[in-house]
Amino acid sequence: MSDRDGKIWMDGQMVDWRDAKIHVLTHTLHYGCGAFEGVRAYETEQGTAIFRLQDHTRRLFNSAKILRMQIPFTQDQANQAQIDVVKANGLKSCYLRPLTWIGDRKLGVSPKGNTIHLMVAAWAWGAYLGEEGMERGIRTRISSYTRHHVNITMTQAKTVSNYTNSILANSEALDDGYDEAILLDASGFVSEGSGENIFVVKDGVVYTPDLSAGALNGITRNTVLHICQDLGLEVVQKRITRDELYISDELFFSGTAAEVTPIREVDRIQIGEGRRGPITEKIQKAFFDIVGGRNPKYAHWLTPV
Ligand code: PMP
Repeated sequence: MSDRDGKIWMDGQMVDWRDAKIHVLTHTLHYGCGAFEGVRAYETEQGTAIFRLQDHTRRLFNSAKILRMQIPFTQDQANQAQIDVVKANGLKSCYLRPLTWIGDRKLGVSPKGNTIHLMVAAWAWGAYLGEEGMERGIRTRISSYTRHHVNITMTQAKTVSNYTNSILANSEALDDGYDEAILLDASGFVSEGSGENIFVVKDGVVYTPDLSAGALNGITRNTVLHICQDLGLEVVQKRITRDELYISDELFFSGTAAEVTPIREVDRIQIGEGRRGPITEKIQKAFFDIVGGRNPKYAHWLTPV
C-alpha cells in the first residue's frame, strides 16, 4: 500500500503517497496510543459526498481528548483536509482514514513534551465483508477473546490499541473459516464485532447492545437507529445474551466499512432462514438511499466534495 500514486494529507501538507512516512521511533508505534477514524465518501447524483463527516471528526477529537492528546488542528481544518484528500486523489467513492499519533521526539512512556500529528489518507474500498455477504449474509463465531472492559483502554475512543483485541478476534474467526467475530463483554454479554456494531431482530423488534457492553458508539449504529424510527420499528438498547443471538429472527452488523451486513450464521447455528432477513433488507436499502443522497431528510449528513 505504501508504493502507489496519490496524495496523503500529513500535518497540513499534501504529500506524495510514497513520501508519507514516519520514523521507527514513533511513540505510537511502540505503545499504541493513537486514535483514528474510518469515514466513507459516496458517489451521489449531486456528486461525491462524505457521509457524516462532522460526526466522524468530532469522534476523532473526542477520542484524542480521552487519550489526553491535543490535536494541533481544529475540527474545521480536519474536515477540510478530508475533503481535500478525496479531491486530490480524484476519488468518486472511497474510504477515508484520518489518524492522530504521538511523534518520535522521545520514547519514554509519558507522551508529555512529544509532538502530536494528524494525517488523512483515502482509497477506493468496496464492501468490507464482501459483495456476496451483503446479499446472502455472513458467517460468524463468538470470539474466545473478550471485548475490552469499559475501564481498560476506554471503549468510547476509537484508539489504535483497541484494535489488537479486534485483530485477535478477527484472525481467530478467519482461521476457523468464518467471516467475522462477535465479541462478548467481560460479563459475557454481547458487545460488538471486531469492527462493527451488532443488531438483533426478534418478533419485529430491533435490539442492540447498550454501550455499557463496551461497544463503540458507532455512527452507522446511530444512522440505523434513525432508520428504524423512520420505518416505525421499535428499538431496544439492552444487555443481550449469546443465546439470544442463536434464537433471533435476523442479525446484522453496522459500520462505516461494513455498512449494513446481514449475518446468517453464529457458531454454525443458522439464524432465521439462513439468509438476509426482510427487516435487515429494508434497513440496508434505507441506509444506501441515505448515503447515496436519495433521501432529502438526511441531506445534511452529506458534505459535498
Ligand atoms: N465497533 C468497532 C470496534 C469498530 O471498529 C467500528 C468501525 N468504526 C464500529 C463499531 C462501527 O462504527 P462506525 O459505524 O462509526 O463506523
